Amino acid sequence: MTPEAPEGLSDLWAENVFNLPKMQARLPKAVFKSIKKTIVTGDKLDPSVADAVASAMKDWAMSKGALYYAHVFYPMTNQTAEKHDGFISVQGDGSAISEFAGKVLVQGEPDGSSFPNGGIRGTFEARGYTAWDVTSPAYIMETDNGATLCIPTVFVSWTGEALDKKVPLLRSIAAMDKAASKVLQLLGCTEVAHVNSSCGSEQEYFLVDANFASQRPDLLLAGRTLFGKPPAKGQQFDDHYFGAIPERVQVFMQDVEKAMYKLGIPAKTRHNEVAPGQFEIAPFFEAANVASDHQQLTMTLLRHTAKKHGFICLLHEKPFAGINGSGKHVNWSVGNSTQGNLLDPGDSPHENAQFLVFCGAVIRAVHKYGPLMRAAIATASNDHRLGANEAPPAIMSVYLGTQLEDVFEQIKQGSITDSKHKGVLDLGIDVLPPLSKDPGDRNRTSPFAFTGNRFEFRAVGSSQSVSGPLIVLNTMLADSLEWIGNRLEGELGNGMDLNAAVLTVLKEVMEAHGSVVFGGDGYSEEWHKMAVEERGLANLPTTADALPYLKAEFVEDLFKKTGVLTPVELESRFEVYAEQYILSIEVESKLVVDMAKTYIYPIAVDYLAKLSSTITALSGMGVTLDKESAETVAGLTSSMMASVKKLSEAMAKHDFADTAAHMKYCAETIRPLMDEVRESVDALEGEIPDADWPLPTYQEMLFIK
Ligand code: ADP
Ligand code: MG
Repeated sequence: MTPEAPEGLSDLWAENVFNLPKMQARLPKAVFKSIKKTIVTGDKLDPSVADAVASAMKDWAMSKGALYYAHVFYPMTNQTAEKHDGFISVQGDGSAISEFAGKVLVQGEPDGSSFPNGGIRGTFEARGYTAWDVTSPAYIMETDNGATLCIPTVFVSWTGEALDKKVPLLRSIAAMDKAASKVLQLLGCTEVAHVNSSCGSEQEYFLVDANFASQRPDLLLAGRTLFGKPPAKGQQFDDHYFGAIPERVQVFMQDVEKAMYKLGIPAKTRHNEVAPGQFEIAPFFEAANVASDHQQLTMTLLRHTAKKHGFICLLHEKPFAGINGSGKHVNWSVGNSTQGNLLDPGDSPHENAQFLVFCGAVIRAVHKYGPLMRAAIATASNDHRLGANEAPPAIMSVYLGTQLEDVFEQIKQGSITDSKHKGVLDLGIDVLPPLSKDPGDRNRTSPFAFTGNRFEFRAVGSSQSVSGPLIVLNTMLADSLEWIGNRLEGELGNGMDLNAAVLTVLKEVMEAHGSVVFGGDGYSEEWHKMAVEERGLANLPTTADALPYLKAEFVEDLFKKTGVLTPVELESRFEVYAEQYILSIEVESKLVVDMAKTYIYPIAVDYLAKLSSTITALSGMGVTLDKESAETVAGLTSSMMASVKKLSEAMAKHDFADTAAHMKYCAETIRPLMDEVRESVDALEGEIPDADWPLPTYQEMLFIK
């Protein structure tokens, strides 16, 4: 018996999505069949069906009040971009009709010059094209007084290079599909459907009352507090995690979920997070490309809906110092309709061999491309989590859980000889016992953990698009599967039987790459030392350390041979991400200087004047007031201004050998000076009367809901 849907779900679900059932109801049979084939199998779109689809799409959208349509795309920033056009067409006689031709649906031309391209185009050749991504359904975005038909698209340059995150994501899925299919066939699968990757992303965020946020220039412009003394009570009681959700917040969440359901986004889990004022929303997982578009929409909905409820939704990775930051755990797996989830240990020995091959491929990939994974999550804001002590460390390792770690350790030894399995041992993969799933077996300190039937990339930042990490995961897995496929093929060709060949190849994988498997405490000093010194893993604490790996030869080779990014496209990504890093730190450091000078200094000086005149007046009356407080405020104010001066001077430097040197300067010189200013400001906050302090405090922002 299927459980009954909660009341309203069937009315809400995908109400605003032009999905397959709606197409089927509105399209001629042949057209529907053709478009369905493209959506399901990824086959080429037949251009002759575009007009019919466009016309049906327009009629549906207009019946929902849409007068405009927008090609929505995902530039190399983590943002969503869109260009809106009206359906209106004015006729010779002055009348207006609505029009939406197939060619307009399929292709658009936004002015590309305002999007970062990392040197791919000069502004004189700024043409950029958007092209309909048939595999991600069109939908309606509603506002209070209207609606817009939104069409997910890719964004490419006039010369054909990918300027966005969707093109490489689609290419990475194709590359993974190709390599995975070959491996499955070698493993004896006769029927192999298109292999796709799946993604379920847990989104953490903070809510702050808008009245407070609007008085904090740092929250408005940088998304995080650049100053702020920790409150007496933070998260030390762990009383917020999974606590009762405050009613005002729950009302907000329900609005978000309703909007998500209308857009066909399967919101599934909501809860309080560890820090006060921090929450999480997670959808049910979907195919990576759709999940990625839906994740972008979720971030938009969170921000917009928060405003309506008098909140500001902060997606910054570390909006408050001293309490947990926010991540976006990217749960990722690969699978198809014939073999199912390929990272599911399953319960029959044959499936176990298949699982072990795919899991082994992931282990090899993380070891080979760890620095690339780190680069894929490198942003100025995420640096506050990674490399700090609270979030996953900046060292990429794989957590398998005790049971699996043991199995792979045995593979490394060349045979399965675990006495737990009572004698039927040493016979190859077939004898592996069914692996029971153990979702309780978790490691929160690992950046990349196996969680029962998928991997969870925990180090992704909360404001990031999931596309970048998914591109890297799919591509590096494609490379590993390709290698394993070739090795298996070789051994089988030499006459080895399948189980022995699998064991041989996996043993090789574990010997060369097993050092990336780590089940201990990823935050500990010992691991940091052991990882680097004994295991040779890279520890890349900042974006300035990580991004240059995008220019490394082995990374360029990976993207080139899998066809996911050309060297030019890869180079442009380095330039764009590096520029974003530098710009973020520039904005923040300017804000630090401005706020210190125009918010904090005047208040500190006023208070000092008040104090010193009181001290003088009192001493005239023969009363002595201790000067210590005045001296402390005076001392902190002058050290603050001395640090501001140092920071301003450091910011004036503009001649750098190259982008990498500029990033390094931001990480090693500018950032520490910003912290130096902050130290004095936060200390001043503890001295100056609360009523005079010009900024809403942590206490107010975190605890008043
Ligand atoms: P956690 O206990 O790790 O916080 P959640 O329930 O909050 O877990 O989120 C787990 C996420 O993993 C959900 O989005 C879920 O749909 C997703 N997930 C489950 N199975 C898969 C899979 N095979 N591929 C990708 N994501 C998956
Ligand atoms: Mg969760």
